[in-house]
Amino acid sequence: MALQPARTVEELRELQELTGDENGAQRVAWTETWERAREWLRGKLEDAPVDEEIDEAGNQWFTLRGSSDRSLLIGGHIDSVPNGGWLDGCLNVLAGAEVLRRIGEEGDPAVTVRLVNWADEEGARFGRSLFGSSAAAGSMADQDELRGRRDADGRLLPEVLAERGVELDRVLEARKQLAGAAAYLELHIEQGPVLEALDLPLGVVLGTFGVERHLVTFKGQAAHAGSTPMDRRRDALAGAAKLELEIREIAKRTGGGAVCTMGGVVTKPGIVTSVVETAECLLDQRNLEAGTLAAMLDEAKAASERIAAEEDIEVSWERIWGIEPILFDDGLIELADEAIREVAGESHRLPSGPLHDAAEVARAGVPTVMLFVQSLRGLSHTKLEDTKPEHLELAVQALDRLAEKTIERLASPS
Ligand SMILES: [Zn+2]
Repeated sequence: MALQPARTVEELRELQELTGDENGAQRVAWTETWERAREWLRGKLEDAPVDEEIDEAGNQWFTLRGSSDRSLLIGGHIDSVPNGGWLDGCLNVLAGAEVLRRIGEEGDPAVTVRLVNWADEEGARFGRSLFGSSAAAGSMADQDELRGRRDADGRLLPEVLAERGVELDRVLEARKQLAGAAAYLELHIEQGPVLEALDLPLGVVLGTFGVERHLVTFKGQAAHAGSTPMDRRRDALAGAAKLELEIREIAKRTGGGAVCTMGGVVTKPGIVTSVVETAECLLDQRNLEAGTLAAMLDEAKAASERIAAEEDIEVSWERIWGIEPILFDDGLIELADEAIREVAGESHRLPSGPLHDAAEVARAGVPTVMLFVQSLRGLSHTKLEDTKPEHLELAVQALDRLAEKTIERLASPS
């Protein structure tokens, strides 16, 4: 039997029926509903010639043995945020299942092909995203901190994971799963408006953005709102306001998809009768190129100092979090471009603002690429998340072509 892309759309609806409610998808990792989704996926692959395994980090693997131990991995995550959409994560898994079934029916592939359903990509319950993939990649280093994490009901992470057979102390043993991995493919909804604006169904992802996250604090002087003349004020909020407008210019000047966001400003004393003494600003900057990201940060720092001087206030910076950009594999990007052009006529290359499991796999040194399929209105993490069924079918076809091309490349001696 040939590939049946329409079956993927039917299965996505079936999964939504089984694990969602009127508010959206409810497949939060480690819950009963998530377990039911994994069980359901197992059923979808029971007639395929694959072996199933759940690794030490809770990742679910389906392996189709090929003539060689070198393996092609196709990944996704069946977990969702609470009240999530019907596509985020599970599209990747179900498209991968369809590709695996197609390859399995054609007999032994030249290389081993494996589908992985990563555990807890969303981090919705314990605030730790990319759990299973970071364990398999060997980059997870926060086990000590995770030991004390609790969910909203006050339950400890190790206790909840143990109910699913996962011991926090052993999750890094999942690393052996990446031995022999020669390529990793992941299809995902874009979760942004770029492809829709270009009227294109599919795009190739170049990598995931590096992120610089800082707390910028402006400090002035609290003073009476009635008695302090305008030219005598040391207004910390003026610093925040000017910086907010400046970071938009920095992103615009940088171009190439660069983004800067002031996600929050807290002012003190925060009363209507006082000039603002301190303004604490949360700044997030992202770019696909490490040097450019560093330059954006330098520009923002220089702007904040100039503004502080203008307003006769002080400014200080504290780094909250950061991650370097993760670039995908050039050869696989070319193959993905070809695959998209073959099924959809035109392709587009774009970076990913959100992080994905693919970033962890790429960090572990496995050549990686992602495909994005258009998201309607750019929405995700809501039940309003949607993609046209015909685009979903094209996405399954593109993933299948890409898998085929990758297998050929891995099998050819060069
Ligand atoms: Zn996702």
